[in-house]
Order: sequence, then structure tokens, then C-alpha cells
Amino acid sequence: MARLPKLKPCPFCGERDAFVERADFSSAYVFCNSCSGKGPTECQESDYEETPGERAAIHAWNKRKRASKNKEAV
Ligand SMILES: [Zn+2]
Repeated sequence: MARLPKLKPCPFCGERDAFVERADFSSAYVFCNSCSGKGPTECQESDYEETPGERAAIHAWNKRKRASKNKEAV
């Protein structure tokens, strides 16, 4: 089982308080506990993911620019 990439600090508030939240049966997003910021909801990439969409959601989260303050961007 490949290890998942680490979550970068929240692009909205800079805290390391984010975790992957399941959106539905085949997708997930990253949610920040500190500021309630959300990353984009991403779909499952393979059948072997423990949490479907987890890997894609982490990638999307880590790509986020710190400058963006717009939480409604999804
Ligand atoms: Zn945050």
C-alpha cells in the first residue's frame, strides 16, 4: 500500500490542522479544523484507496496557493 502524501499547512490560515473528510462514496475533500476552510472535492483515482478520493483531495489541497482567501471557490 502506497503511503499518502502529507498535508501541507492550511492555505487559508496556515495551521497544520487539516484532515481528509469523506464527501460521498467516491470522493473526498480536505477540511481545516482551525478555520473551516475546505479544499476542492476530488474523485477516486483507483479502487484501492482506503478513503476514495483521499489522494486526489490531498494533491488538490497541497497545490492551493496561500494567497487565495476565497473559501467559496469550489
Ligand atoms: Zn485553516
